Amino acid sequence: MNRAPLRTAVAAVAGAALLSGCTSFVDTVTAPEPATVSSPAVRQESCPGRAEPDPDRPRVGLDFRLADDLRTVTGTETVVFTPDRPVEELVFRLVPNGPDIASAGSRLVVDAVRGDDVAGSRYESLGASGPGGGYVVALDEPLEAGDTTEVELDFTLTLGSGGFERVGSDEDVSWWASGAPLLAWEPGVGWARDPFVEISGETTTSAAADTTVRVSAPADLTVLMTGDQAEPTAPDAAGRRTWTSQEPVARDVSVAAGRFTTAERTTPEGVRVTAGALPGAEPTADELADATVEAIADLEEHLGPFPYGTLTVPQLPDYRGGIEYPSSILQASPSAEVLVHEVAHMWFYGMVGNSQYRDPWLDEAFATWAEALVHPSSAAELEPALGVHGDVGAAMDDFRTQRQYGARVYGKGGAVLLAAREAAGAEAFDAAVRCYVDAAAWTIATPEDVAAALADLPEARDVLVDAGALSG
Ligand SMILES: [Zn+2]
Repeated sequence: MNRAPLRTAVAAVAGAALLSGCTSFVDTVTAPEPATVSSPAVRQESCPGRAEPDPDRPRVGLDFRLADDLRTVTGTETVVFTPDRPVEELVFRLVPNGPDIASAGSRLVVDAVRGDDVAGSRYESLGASGPGGGYVVALDEPLEAGDTTEVELDFTLTLGSGGFERVGSDEDVSWWASGAPLLAWEPGVGWARDPFVEISGETTTSAAADTTVRVSAPADLTVLMTGDQAEPTAPDAAGRRTWTSQEPVARDVSVAAGRFTTAERTTPEGVRVTAGALPGAEPTADELADATVEAIADLEEHLGPFPYGTLTVPQLPDYRGGIEYPSSILQASPSAEVLVHEVAHMWFYGMVGNSQYRDPWLDEAFATWAEALVHPSSAAELEPALGVHGDVGAAMDDFRTQRQYGARVYGKGGAVLLAAREAAGAEAFDAAVRCYVDAAAWTIATPEDVAAALADLPEARDVLVDAGALSG
């Protein structure tokens, strides 16, 4: 998410004399490769290619209505769910009730639940604000693996204000990401009931889902959201337009509705990019669209093809950060580095999912690393972070402060991935990372998947083991 913690975190360790003899990352990332490294062409032959999404993945339909007050969203969510393990209930995560988001006035309430198999429902606290961070729908009888159930939830979302969060409102714009009950399913594992944490950072786990979105909003607003968007309807008698989108592999959804001017581009590989800028904003929509296309091209060189057919980038007021969602980014900074970081999340989080509670480094360290490959200034910033104390692979409950989380997961995590790349040779390491993202595409990856991809690069693996990212 929010790439902002990195600078604060790394600044905390820079000049603290924690390091001795550390080489410059600007130098090391451009150093010649060791001659012993096998060629990426050979290595690629053993790669399985990009995995297809699970044909039995959830099907999610989201129908949002932004009220004329621009602060309230009512909606209905339809979920068709076929678990790969037996279940007796469905568990949804109510992300807007997390402590940091709720403190800005946001709140998600489930108003009703329907379904042929539904026996009842209740909230669960999960350490969130009222009415709770979890919503459990009990089934009248156990659902076997491979069987299907369908439930429908009505909900009301209040958009808070006063800070940069994934749900909020400001002059000229309202936005909500993770704004509906999120099916908290980890295939092969079960329900993710991880507690919310006090520090700002993601803690969710959700499967890639075949998703459709519909948004009704006042006609003077432009909607930019997850998925391949169709043209909006003409304004109706009530002065509203309806926007729709489809994304067959969205593990969550972001929506922004604002007085955006938009600019559209298509990359050489056919990815449709739509950027939106608010009145008077810098960069302009055209500049933001160009920068996004450039970020995609720069990252594809290292990571392989962009995961989605579309990418929308609504630019919010400058809150000094950005938040990634599948095929959409809430870009709240003019920074090109932040933009690259969030685009990198389309691979790490969007396509290669992870438990953001259990393994936060799998998305944040890799996105920070990818940003550093594109921006040498970001690599230089990471230099002091190798000396940060503690395991890169820690879960979210291990961090006592925002600074500690940022320093270890973003800072040290990004730095050790650069060091692992240096140890193995850049081309061989990047090829192994491409193998990893292709093999783990549209799943919830684990550190074991990273270890498997690095099996032939023990020099790189050792660096990650030493940093506590991988187990030895
Ligand atoms: Zn991030």
